[in-house]
Amino acid sequence: MMISIKARAKINLSLDVTAKRLDGYHNIKTIMQTIDLHDKIDIDVINKGIELECNSMELPLDNKNLAYKAAELFMSKYDIKSGVRIKIDKNIPIAAGLAGGSSDAAAVLIGMNKLFNCGMDVTTLISIGKVLGADIPYCIKGGTVFAEGIGEILSELKAIPMTYIVIVVPKVAVSTKWVYQNLNLNKIYKRPDMNLLFSIINEGNIALLAQNMVNVLETVTMEKFDIINTIKQKLKEFGALGSLMSGSGPSVFGIFRDKSSALEAYQKIKCNDWDLFVTETT
Ligand code: ATP
Repeated sequence: MMISIKARAKINLSLDVTAKRLDGYHNIKTIMQTIDLHDKIDIDVINKGIELECNSMELPLDNKNLAYKAAELFMSKYDIKSGVRIKIDKNIPIAAGLAGGSSDAAAVLIGMNKLFNCGMDVTTLISIGKVLGADIPYCIKGGTVFAEGIGEILSELKAIPMTYIVIVVPKVAVSTKWVYQNLNLNKIYKRPDMNLLFSIINEGNIALLAQNMVNVLETVTMEKFDIINTIKQKLKEFGALGSLMSGSGPSVFGIFRDKSSALEAYQKIKCNDWDLFVTETT
């Protein structure tokens, strides 16, 4: 028995940080969107244990890998006696603000639920998966979603019309922890207007959405890495309706009116200093 699932990346169409919590985490308000850029996850039933294979040399293959952790958790929750072999075909850039790791873990939970006929609904999977990380609930749910708390309280929004996205990932290492540590909540001057964004999303107006996106974490990451601002401007110069850093970065995405304008921007921006993807919302 084998199952193959797409673990899709996400972008943050806006992100606000509202408070630092006593437990060290931050409360956020964010609008997340699934995109078609994905890792392929194959899961096979084997006699026992967890075997992990991955085409990327950068990732751990033991219980430090979120996909491994997800399998371990699932097997203990459902008292599964046999084992699994998980193959990750990695396409989502790692530690880029696109939730690639969380998405792999979510895909493992969804896949094992099917593979072992456990019959759990999304809500149950989310309640199991949330211990693995703040982005896991969203990655299980997917779509256009408003997330609060540390990202685990989800409200489904009307799905935005299918839109072309260009993602640029500069080759700089940005740690999520560092970004939050360096965020000064008293020095945020521009926050996303969530109510405005909700009504724009309800209308399905992509151009207005693109113009009103704000990510408060940009201030921190851009101050250190000028390149992020350069890329944002380039995306707009080459036709994006709007551009924004995703999550804590360093990925930057641009929203495009149609496929041809996205491909044209891709051709113009393509260079060795960063990785580029053309994808679409799903
Ligand atoms: P987020 O947007 O949720 O902050 P991210 O896109 O910034 O996520 P990820 O790609 O999810 O970051 O990975 C962050 C870290 O998790 C990396 O340092 C990586 O070593 C570790 N990790 C563990 N398992 C995985 C996996 N299956 N795929 C990617 N990263 C993984």
